[in-house]
Parts: sequence; structure tokens; C-alpha cells
Amino acid sequence: VPLDRIRNFSIIAHIDHGKSTLADRLIQHTGAVTAREMKEQLLDNMELERERGITIKAQTVRLNYQAKDGLTYTLNLMDTPGHVDFAYEVSRSLAACEGSLLVVDASQGVEAQTLANVYQAIDANHEIVPVLNKIDLPAAEPDRVKQQIEDVIGLDASDAVMISAKTGLNIEGVLEAIVTRLPPPKGDVNATTKALLVDSWYDAYLGVVVLVRVKDGELRKGQRIRMMSNGSVHTIEQVGVFTPKMVPVDRLSPGEMGFVTAAIKTVADTNVGDTITDDRNPATEPLPGFKPSIPVVWCGLYPVDADDFEKLRESLAKLRLNDASFHYEPETSAALGFGYRCGFLGLLHLEIIQERLSREFDLDLIATAPSVVYKIRKTNGEEMELHNPADMPDGSVVDVIEEPWIKATIMVPDDYLGPVLTLCNERRGRQIELTYVGNRAMAVYRLPLNEVVFDFYDRLKSVSRGYASFDYQQDGYEEGDLVKISILVNAEPVDALSFMAHRSAADRRGRSICEKLKELIPRQLFKIPIQAAIGSRVIARETISALSKDVTAKCYGGDITRKRKLLEKQKEGKKRMRQFGKVEIPQSAFIAALKMD
Ligand code: GDP
Ligand code: MG
Repeated sequence: VPLDRIRNFSIIAHIDHGKSTLADRLIQHTGAVTAREMKEQLLDNMELERERGITIKAQTVRLNYQAKDGLTYTLNLMDTPGHVDFAYEVSRSLAACEGSLLVVDASQGVEAQTLANVYQAIDANHEIVPVLNKIDLPAAEPDRVKQQIEDVIGLDASDAVMISAKTGLNIEGVLEAIVTRLPPPKGDVNATTKALLVDSWYDAYLGVVVLVRVKDGELRKGQRIRMMSNGSVHTIEQVGVFTPKMVPVDRLSPGEMGFVTAAIKTVADTNVGDTITDDRNPATEPLPGFKPSIPVVWCGLYPVDADDFEKLRESLAKLRLNDASFHYEPETSAALGFGYRCGFLGLLHLEIIQERLSREFDLDLIATAPSVVYKIRKTNGEEMELHNPADMPDGSVVDVIEEPWIKATIMVPDDYLGPVLTLCNERRGRQIELTYVGNRAMAVYRLPLNEVVFDFYDRLKSVSRGYASFDYQQDGYEEGDLVKISILVNAEPVDALSFMAHRSAADRRGRSICEKLKELIPRQLFKIPIQAAIGSRVIARETISALSKDVTAKCYGGDITRKRKLLEKQKEGKKRMRQFGKVEIPQSAFIAALKMD
């Protein structure tokens, strides 16, 4: 395909503004799939994505479109994830394209992720076409939203494309805008081969599949390719495109997107952002890469039933095959036994992995409190990264602790601004900017990430009745007055419940977790003290009073089957308990205790 007949584009939008629906309509309109094959949200192919209505993995599809100028164009669409945790996947999708459709819900307007994504697209030098979606809704205010796009983003919105992705209204207008307003790719077929490795995943039949965007030269079957980051060499078995079905082709030329298989053993060998070149005629300089994904939130995952450890190990390995941004390493906890320390891009990522483990792999897990990565300098000059509060060295040998900060952008209707600012201040936030667009406020704050991983989204949603939108990026490390809070149940430390907190919040958090545990740990035959401590200093204490009661007492002499049932029920409950010294803590207590407020 000649370069001027190719358009590579992505769709960027705030979550729920209709990106996936529009992608489906474009696929349908260009006839890439028949009506019978067409399922809602074709690109969101993971069950979980579909259910939650979010897009996790970036997806791509090739469309053929006969334009009004009579020529047929190849349009490569990259779907991008909409959630903050996956900003990194957005950036690599954008690096593979020349233009973006900026979808804005005409009944909602510009939101925090609209802005975050649009800035990334501008950074990637994209041409951007604004698309106003959901104009079928009575609440749609296209003129107001156009004005907002101009005021807030500074993009000319006078010829924004007005559509309803739901009803299919003006999908043709979107396709024409792609062809006439987005630039074609550049590239040279005679230059040495350079292709961008956009993504990779494991396919049960094909092995590792690599998603590429060819910049120069070409990729074809039988070619020996070299990964520039590590020098590994592979022979291409298949090249192809997504229609969205995988269809083999002879070659991929400059400007084209598609897939390559090359008997690569594990996804870990394929680094996203890497440059693929020809082994016999290699490029000297790689393409400008993008930042690798670094896990920012860690937590421990332990099987409720210790017999499931092996199953957990296998399941994590399988998940990792499809998600190179997920990290894990073995860990042992005195309280929870053998498990894994797992690293995630953010809280949603953590939740998704946990849910997949329970749903797809049928695992019952205990997760420890999510923790960010602290940098510690000891008095002897030694430096370390702290992924797990349990590994915190004794306070006397710690010189400096640094914690990660973020820069957050929050957009919220004026009516709810007060409580949002209060929340940010409570979480040690520092205001950088507060501006208004109509009756919407945009607050930019620096916040410690540690204050955000504990239920910040939930609180933000609740204080704004769901109207606030939020986006963040990492913004360096800063020294902080941080302490490790240990939780002792019956005088025994429960390492899985220990957590890091700023000293100013330590008493409150310590008290709150003790109060919760008091409610959640069932009374036992003896009195149980529950304490929160910093080092040896106790900062909060609760006591669970003793109880003496035989569960079967009520039915003595009575119905034997009822008695047996009760005992069985009790046994069932036991499986979900963890024994700490003499005390049993139910799994639900862990989960609830680890949720901060
Ligand atoms: P995404 O998160 O940006 O991918 O958004 P989706 O495509 O999943 O759409 C979010 C919700 O908005 C879904 O319930 C869609 O059915 C709905 N939706 C998408 N486009 C339109 C539209 O043009 N009109 C209306 N009324 N609803 C739409
Ligand atoms: Mg979607």
C-alpha cells in the first residue's frame, strides 16, 4: 500500500465517552466484520474488560475504506485504554500513530483523562480531530463542549465531527475526517528495517505474538530479525494484520501495523518500545523509545489455603505472559506463609489482576495493604528500595525516607469543589493551580502517592457524588516523615497488616485499624488485645473480650443432623481463617482492615 493511502490513528477519550463504541462502528461501517460476527465492543475482548466497560490492552485493527475521493485507504486503528493506570499503554499506542480522534461526550464535556490523553497525543506530535459523541442524548450541549475544547485544550473545535456512536449517526464523517485531516505516515522501504515493538502477548496456538509498527524497511516471513535492546535474533514465522481477525500477509511495509510471530519463547524477551531490525543489515540507532513501565504499587498475595501455593505460582506465571507490566517475586510472611510480592501500575491494575486470579484461576487470596516504593538511606550510607513495609529497617538505622509524589489533575463541578479540596488537603496535597472553565473547576495538586493508593478514588467519587474526574502522573521523590506502623494481635505482630504512614496520620490510622479489627475478629475463649505500634511505642489499643460458648450447645440432645451441619459450617469457616498464635483471623477481617478510611 502506498504511504499516502495509509492512516494510522488512535482514539483517545475519557472513560465512558464512547471510544470502544466508536471503534465498533468504524469496524462495522468499513465491513471488516459481518453483522453476524459483530458483537458489542468487539475490541474489548477480555471478559473482565467487557464487564467493567474498560479497555485494558491496546488493540489494533486494519480497516479498508473507500473514501469520497474514490480511492481506497487502509486505516489502522489503535484502541487505547482509558484509565490512568494504563497511561503507559496509551503512550505506546500513540507512538505507533500519526493522528488521534479526540472523543468527547457532548453531554459531559472535557474530563481529567481527556486532558491527560490529549497532552500525550500532543507530545507524540499527533494531528488531532475532535469528535463530539452522544449528540443523540437530550442533555448533549455540543456548542458548550466545543467552546470548552477551545478554552481548556486550545484546539480548534469549529469543525469537530458530531456523531452518535450508539445510533451510528455520521460515522462516515469520522472516516472522511481521518482520510482528509490526518497525515499519512512517513517511511522508506529501502532504508534499513526499523519497526517499533508496540505490544506482545502469549497466544495458545501461535506462541508469543508481537504487535509492530514498521517505520522503515519491511518485515517478511523467513527474515532474521534482531531485537535492538538485547541483541536476540529470531526468524519470522508469520507476519499478518488484524481485521480484527488475524490474517497472514506477505510483508509489512513502512507505515503499516501488524503482527509478527518468530518462535519467541516468553513475552519477557520482547520489550515494549524496543526496535526490531534486520539481523543481516541492522540499523545503528534505535527508534526513540518510550519509558518502560515501572510498577508503582506493590502488595503481597497469599493463598488462603496454603495448599494452593503451587496453583498461585502457575497462575501468576500465566498472567505475566500476557501482561509484561505486572511483576511478581516470591515472599514469605510469618503470618501468611508463602506467597508473592506483586507489582502493579496502579490500583486498578492491582484490582484487575486480583479479580482475574479469583475468576479465571479460581484462587482464594489474601492481599496485604498496597504499598508504594520508598527510597531509604541508612545511617551507614547504604541505600535501599522498600517494596514491603515488613522489610522496613529499625528506625534507629534509618537516616532518610523518601516517598513518591504525583501530580494530579482533578476536574469537578464548582458545587463539589469544597469537599474535594478538603480531601486533597487531608491527604497532604499541595495546590499548584486552580482554574475555572464555566462552572467546572480544574485543580492541579501535588500529592504523596502513598495517600492516593488508600481509597483516594473512592473518597473522591463519594465527596463529589461521582462528578469528579481524576488523572495523575508520577512526579519525583521527596523526603517525608514516614513511620512503619505494626499491628499486634494478642501481642504477636501480624506482619501482613503492617503499613507505612506519615507521622501526622499515624495515630488516626492506627486507631482506625484497631477499631476495625475489634469488630471483625470473632470473640474467642480468651481476651485478645489488639495494638498498633511505632517501634515499641503503642499508639492505639483495643481489646476483644473473652467468650465462652459452644456452638453446638443450643442443640444438645437434639437433632443430630442439625448438629453435624453446624459443625461442617464451622469447618468451612475455618478454611477462610488464618491462625495467628492462638488467634484466628478471618479473611474478611484482613480485607476490611486493609481498606483505609
Ligand atoms: P469507552 O469507555 O470510552 O470505551 O466508552 P464505551 O464505548 O464503552 O461507552 C460507554 C457507554 O456510553 C456505553 O454504555 C455506550 O453504550 C454509551 N454510548 C457510547 N456512545 C454513545 C452515543 O453516541 N450515545 C449514547 N446515548 N450512548 C453512547
Ligand atoms: Mg472502552
